[in-house]
Amino acid sequence: MKQKIYLDHSATTPTDRRVIEAMLSYFDKKFGNPSSLYRLAQEAQKAREEAREKVARLLSAKPGEIVFTGCGTESDNHALKGIAFANKEKGNHIITSSIEHHAVLNTCKWLEKQGFEVTYLEVDQNGIVDLEQLENSITDKTSLISIMHANNELGTIEPLEEIGELAKEKGVYFHTDAVQSVGKIPVNVNKLNADLLSLSAHKLYGPKGVGALYIRKGTQIHSLLHGGHHENNQRAGTENIPGIVGVGKAVEIAMEEGKEEEKRIQKLRDRLEKSLKEKIEDVKLNGHPQRRLPGILNICVRYIEGESMLLQLDAQGIAASSGSACTSGSLKPSHVLTAIGVDSETAHGSLRFSLGKDNTEEHVEKVIDLLPPIVERLREMSPLGKGKTSGN
Ligand SMILES: *Cc1c(COP(=O)(O)O)cnc(C)c1O
Repeated sequence: MKQKIYLDHSATTPTDRRVIEAMLSYFDKKFGNPSSLYRLAQEAQKAREEAREKVARLLSAKPGEIVFTGCGTESDNHALKGIAFANKEKGNHIITSSIEHHAVLNTCKWLEKQGFEVTYLEVDQNGIVDLEQLENSITDKTSLISIMHANNELGTIEPLEEIGELAKEKGVYFHTDAVQSVGKIPVNVNKLNADLLSLSAHKLYGPKGVGALYIRKGTQIHSLLHGGHHENNQRAGTENIPGIVGVGKAVEIAMEEGKEEEKRIQKLRDRLEKSLKEKIEDVKLNGHPQRRLPGILNICVRYIEGESMLLQLDAQGIAASSGSACTSGSLKPSHVLTAIGVDSETAHGSLRFSLGKDNTEEHVEKVIDLLPPIVERLREMSPLGKGKTSGN
């Protein structure tokens, strides 16, 4: 049987076995509703609060500042809409970047339809937001700055400390979508001066359908879901206890093993990057060469389509991504690649490998062996020119 090699950890990760084990008893034996008053309910409450403490510890926050949500997308929606509406009296202006995940971008588009004004900051060729433009964009009507910690397509890590400091100085709330960075690089809400921070379990070896939002104590914010008094009146709805236990366990494992794992993963990524650049002509690296998540390698292979490479790799049991999972299937080049100035022809040849805990040296060697001949074959058939001229 052909070996399966999964190199798309930025789209989602396999749930760690230990996380699954930790969750299981909360589906049947300990199924109680934590809002009830008997012992079965207390068990669920206790599990929920232990998970909350773990998430708080990872972020250097207080447990009371963590709200469990249904996903990273919900955390982003809660932060943006919640701050926008609760602080409308102060002003209706929001600042974000042009390379955010659609969970932030499309929420901003929706807020614009509700009468809010949004500034979309430009980024440089490595995907770093323009700090000068940020500073110049802040007005006395600005209620929120929302800039992601690390970009999901490029891996580029934004200068959050500077942004957070600026936000604090100007008295503007600062939210960061840290879905990609949590568990991979240090995330400390105090160092980053973040007032709000989103994370999602399924991007860090936890289950799908559960996330968290950090909300700094004292923040003026509205809820997204109205109903019962769950989550300190911040998020109504009976809690997803198995999922919450899952986030807690995933976070605990990340705190214990993350640092060493990411070092190992970065070595694999660097080996892949170096070898592909050596073996394939006309390859462009997308994202910051250094300030980048350890597991992400995004390249453009000129003169061919990313999708064609993906299909050929898939036929060999290798799963990678072209652009981002949310935009693949559409013909428009990724908004992130467009924002860093990649022309649309080149952008169509983009390929993202995102490495994770289950990857080995053998996996990387396999891609290094298989991809160059795939590229060569596709270029020979390519109508874009390169292959046609190589023989004569
Ligand atoms: C995956 C992702 C999200 C969405 O998280 P879900 O839990 O899938 O809703 C938001 N932001 C970024 C940067 C992501 O990578």
